Amino acid sequence: MRMYDIIHKKRCGGELTREEISFFINGYTGGSIPDYQASALCMAIYFRGMTERETVALTDCMAHSGDTVDLSCFGELSADKHSTGGVGDKTTLIVGPIVASLGGKMAKMSGRGLGHTGGTVDKLEAIPGYRTSLGVDEFLRQVEKIGIAVIGQTGNLAPADKKLYALRDVTATVDSIPLITSSIMSKKLAAGAKNIVLDVKVGSGAFMKTAEQAEELAHAMVKIGKSCGRNITAVLTNMDVPLGCTVGNALEIAEAADVLHNGEESDLKTVCEVLAANIVSMVKKIDYDAAMEQVRETVSSKKAYEKMKEWIAAQGGDISCIEDPQKFAKPQLEIPVLADRDGCIASMDAELIGDASVILGAGRASKEDVIDHSAGIILCKKTGDKVKKGETLCRLYTNRAASIESAKELFCKALVLSDAPLQSQPLIYKIIR
Ligand code: URA
Repeated sequence: MRMYDIIHKKRCGGELTREEISFFINGYTGGSIPDYQASALCMAIYFRGMTERETVALTDCMAHSGDTVDLSCFGELSADKHSTGGVGDKTTLIVGPIVASLGGKMAKMSGRGLGHTGGTVDKLEAIPGYRTSLGVDEFLRQVEKIGIAVIGQTGNLAPADKKLYALRDVTATVDSIPLITSSIMSKKLAAGAKNIVLDVKVGSGAFMKTAEQAEELAHAMVKIGKSCGRNITAVLTNMDVPLGCTVGNALEIAEAADVLHNGEESDLKTVCEVLAANIVSMVKKIDYDAAMEQVRETVSSKKAYEKMKEWIAAQGGDISCIEDPQKFAKPQLEIPVLADRDGCIASMDAELIGDASVILGAGRASKEDVIDHSAGIILCKKTGDKVKKGETLCRLYTNRAASIESAKELFCKALVLSDAPLQSQPLIYKIIR
């Protein structure tokens, strides 16, 4: 078999066989197929697409390209969630303890931030002492004992995806539905959970800019999960505006703890309840409404908050920061951004706000950058809110004085003020089971 013929076949619109896909994945992971041939194939897939059979084979080969985690010791209770990436997305920090407090076994391997989107592992590292790296045995013991562990992805989980993702990132081939499907689902299948909820983000801060694209991606991922024997649900959620009121690592940990501690209604709380209820419904085999009732009870009774602290403490984190977020290290600069006129916020571009947070130090502009966990943005107003001239729109937090003007500029560019309120977008677009 020759890689040249595989590229040529896909370029001409042919359907690749499982053997051809396996030859490509094994060769690329092992180093015998070079980057230039892999990029040519990704570009051919980008333009020609893949049949369902091809996508299943690609996902399966990628899932088995390295280690897999065996969660069979948890029977039907193991659970995982995945977000396609957003700004201010701290849902894992809230959904995980909710599910664990209701008897689910949340064995979660999370990623780092990518571009303007934040990553759970970076957020958790804002907590002094928190260990994002546990050996598999310790990881499983903790899940068994308290129902939740969240660590960084181990080095050899779906290594084909690690290599391919880095290649796609620099060859303009990220936003291809079969390639995103196989990338996400290979990691989820390798991570071993029986029950999976996918948070597919839609809007300006997401890879999928329209609900139609997101729905196509969600259907493809759900189909693959089911064909591999997993219970799986995809929830399409709004990412036209950052989720919640904070963007930045320590700020987001504090906001997540506040949702579980004080339980005030918000967009963030609603999205987390929907994601958690879908997992609980699959784990406990109960209908969605009954699951939602349990989710609301475990939040209002603060059982989920107590579970969050138990989890953070088990991984070495200083829970005094969870109990009193004032204990997080403070950045030197706190700058308010004021409205320059009266109006109503018609829209906020989540991607630009994510970019502004990266400039302040909350994310990485390149792989080598070191994150400043104290940096970020608190949004004082969100889409639909009325503002008066001189009112605070947001507060910027940073240790980089030189970044303030460009972060302000990006934030103001992200905001569209209108005289009349515009129609609001749905928070949850659709649930696909
Ligand atoms: N997230 C992933 O893990 N992979 C993709 O291809 C896109 C988003």
